[in-house]
Amino acid sequence: MTTAYTTAELTKLDQQHFTHPWTVFDVFHQQGALPISRGDGCYIEDSNGRRYLDAVGGLWCTNIGLGRTEMADAIAQQCRELAFANPFVDMTNVPATLLAAKLAELAPGDLDHVIFTCGGSTAVDSSYRLIQYYQNCRGKPEKKHIISRKNSYHGSTYLSMSIGGKAGDHPPEFDFIRDTIHHISCPNYYRAPQGLNEAQYLQFLLDELEHTILRLGPDKVAAFYAEPVLGAGGVIVPPQGYHQGTFAICQKYDVLYVSDEVVTAFGRLGQWFASKDVFGFEPDIIIGAKGLTSGYQPLGACIYSDRIHQVISQPGHGRCFAHGFTYSGHPVACAAALKNIEIIQREQLLQRVQQLGPYFQQQMKTLEDLPIVGQVRGMQLMVCVENVRCKKTKQLFDEELDIGKRIADHAESLGLIVRPIVHLNVMSPPLTISRSQIDDIVATLRKAIELTINDLYAEGHLPMPQDHVKANSI
Ligand code: PLP
Repeated sequence: MTTAYTTAELTKLDQQHFTHPWTVFDVFHQQGALPISRGDGCYIEDSNGRRYLDAVGGLWCTNIGLGRTEMADAIAQQCRELAFANPFVDMTNVPATLLAAKLAELAPGDLDHVIFTCGGSTAVDSSYRLIQYYQNCRGKPEKKHIISRKNSYHGSTYLSMSIGGKAGDHPPEFDFIRDTIHHISCPNYYRAPQGLNEAQYLQFLLDELEHTILRLGPDKVAAFYAEPVLGAGGVIVPPQGYHQGTFAICQKYDVLYVSDEVVTAFGRLGQWFASKDVFGFEPDIIIGAKGLTSGYQPLGACIYSDRIHQVISQPGHGRCFAHGFTYSGHPVACAAALKNIEIIQREQLLQRVQQLGPYFQQQMKTLEDLPIVGQVRGMQLMVCVENVRCKKTKQLFDEELDIGKRIADHAESLGLIVRPIVHLNVMSPPLTISRSQIDDIVATLRKAIELTINDLYAEGHLPMPQDHVKANSI
């Protein structure tokens, strides 16, 4: 958007009026936020014309890359043709119908029905309203409890944030649903109890799920919520066999499995959906958003099974699913999603991720030789660098040190955007990323971490190594 405001004026207005998500007030009041005014492909540009390689892909979402004329045209065309239609009762619109059918085609098994929402959080909310409705319709009103994992992220509404399990997202100043939501272990082998090999750790995790269901009572547990790869929790890829194992336990106790694929779907792991095609299980419900439109429009989808649909829509009961939004199946957002899917298909972006993903992981892994990089982990185009004070004991830096942010700030000054999450840095570049852009990300991030290490030495937060000469000469 062109504007007559200067950057300084914009920053001031922003500081005065825009309450940003997850932005520390004290820092924001002093520094403001980076004003982004343009974007093309994997790059974004600030209002001073400075370009950055956006390794975060917006917020795990700019899958096809920014600035696509074809996408802008499709959105403009839909605005001209029909910007809105009432989705309630007896009315529909063409893009929503076609997108629902497309998602049913792409989703695994009998996941043939779609509830459209305005984003990922609302899709998680809708999924739980669906689950309550389903359990009540089938005469199991006691089934109300939810099991999810520590460190998981499922959104930011009251319900979805309560389902999420990140300690930092549950500060005492907020209230949460606590009586019917239960968090079991995050399947992170790097931080597993000492002495367990991976197979033993897997068994520990599966036992924990089963014992939790048995403790609550299988007739009281409605659903298990899980991201196939935990995203905001630090790109945690569970041990091999975890998904099939947890799914089998859910089936055994008549517990619905909700796979939150807000990040992992639409190509990020090289498939349309990761549940079946990467991890080999067919959940009852899949949640999608983000890459569904590559961030060009806000849209979420709760895609659910025919088995659930048959129960709630059983003839003769006169029921209706009394839930939805003004913008359910918004024609412009659905037109953007259809165009996005068409582009992913035509440019074979899933295959591209399958080819480039291993290179990205392999190159990022080279950062593990740095003295504060405890682990680099991930899958395809999701990656996380876990920074630690001591690699041997895996001890973390003090939280106040904000190590992830320090690294992200150095990276930003070098023209690279990486996302800090406390002691972590996470990345999820557009699926169009090239080999040389991957090389750029790795080289720049290395430099940013090295600069941060030098700061830590200088400030006395990290003991000087014998070979300090080398570190100092960076
Ligand atoms: N679920 C997962 C796994 C997510 O990563 C997110 C957002 O990051 C959400 C749900 C919430 O999506 P939204 O921010 O679109 O509401």
